[in-house]
Amino acid sequence: MPTPHPSRITALIIATANCPDCQAEPGAPCHDGSRPRGDHHQARQQEAERATA
Ligand SMILES: [Zn+2]
Repeated sequence: MPTPHPSRITALIIATANCPDCQAEPGAPCHDGSRPRGDHHQARQQEAERATA
């Protein structure tokens, strides 16, 4: 099933920042508990924006 969000941006965010919400490290995708997410947490996007500003 195709995802509506721009996955390229998600990939960049995942590669750039760690996630304050789920503690995922750079390069690792976000997850909810043991369940992987198809996207990233909002807080992680803010981390990535801060890192690349
Ligand atoms: Zn996360």
